[in-house]
Amino acid sequence: MRILVVGGAGYIGSHMTKLLLDEGHEPMVVDNLSSGHRDAVPRHVFLNGDLRHRVLLDSVLSSRHFDGVMHFASCIQVGESMTDPGKYYWNNVANTLNLLDAMMMRGVTRLIFSSTAAIYGEPRYVPIDEEHPKAPLNPYGRSKWMVEQVLADYERAYGLRHVCLRYFNAAGAHPSGTLGERHRPETHLIPLVLRVASGNAPAVKIFGTDYDTPDGTCIRDYVHVTDLCRAHLLAMEYLMGDGASRAYNLGNGNGFSVKQVIDAASRVTAGTIAVSIAGRREGDPARLVADSALARRELGWQPQYPGIDTIVAHAWVWEQRASRLQPAYAAAR
Ligand code: UDP
Repeated sequence: MRILVVGGAGYIGSHMTKLLLDEGHEPMVVDNLSSGHRDAVPRHVFLNGDLRHRVLLDSVLSSRHFDGVMHFASCIQVGESMTDPGKYYWNNVANTLNLLDAMMMRGVTRLIFSSTAAIYGEPRYVPIDEEHPKAPLNPYGRSKWMVEQVLADYERAYGLRHVCLRYFNAAGAHPSGTLGERHRPETHLIPLVLRVASGNAPAVKIFGTDYDTPDGTCIRDYVHVTDLCRAHLLAMEYLMGDGASRAYNLGNGNGFSVKQVIDAASRVTAGTIAVSIAGRREGDPARLVADSALARRELGWQPQYPGIDTIVAHAWVWEQRASRLQPAYAAAR
């Protein structure tokens, strides 16, 4: 398949690009490097470009035939979305309209869209299935839910066939150790814990120990990044086979608390992780766990790395490599 990977130099997008190449497909990446990394994708498949620029999108999409588009490009920080919602609505919603219109003009009618569990808001029940009410708590989640609704309208009116993949907590790194998570700033639990393990930070903060969970810390469903990418591939194949537009939750169906993740990191790194107890982070539900039965049934998705120790172990190989190869980067984070 020939696939345009928008945002393909970011964390999940770069793993996707590698998977497509490894499986003999032809990805082409467009990324503005606002949060992606130039060295995360091979030079011959990379184009520096921004979704704001419709002319660029028109020229890329008319340069060759594409079977479909995978759209990873978005801003993802919940806290920032509260203080700067305009950035989220422009980047995640308006720029996506640019992409959709360019696709429609060129007759590219298959899209895999990176959505999120944040569209559900405070869970009314767990595990969360796709029918759970959508009540996002912040502009980030709202921007993703808006796009999902736009996609449904584009399907009805223009025949855009799409799969929305609602990620729970994307985590881990490529098993080869060549790719991993590098956010600026880093806000995610596993890389922050591993930064402490590698001596690049003094302690990890635990945001809240008074939740209604067995150990008082928040529970999340961590899903390996390469398992997420496999789901994208299956979803694109599903659309190639004329499957109808769908939305799927992607998680393992297992919840791990913040303390359990820290314990896993202690086991994997054979070290003690210093922690400090902090107050709750605004907007954090106590427990987010996916019901992914639909993706398993309809796409045949089967996570290969469901265990938290494996997820953390792969992230640890990457963390050690990143701090060895890029000490200045590690120090600056
Ligand atoms: N968390 C924490 N300390 C940190 C970062 C995160 O205790 O330094 C907690 C956070 O409150 C949440 C869980 O770890 O309960 C996962 O957070 P992350 O930011 O990785 O993903 P999110 O669930 O926000 O998508």
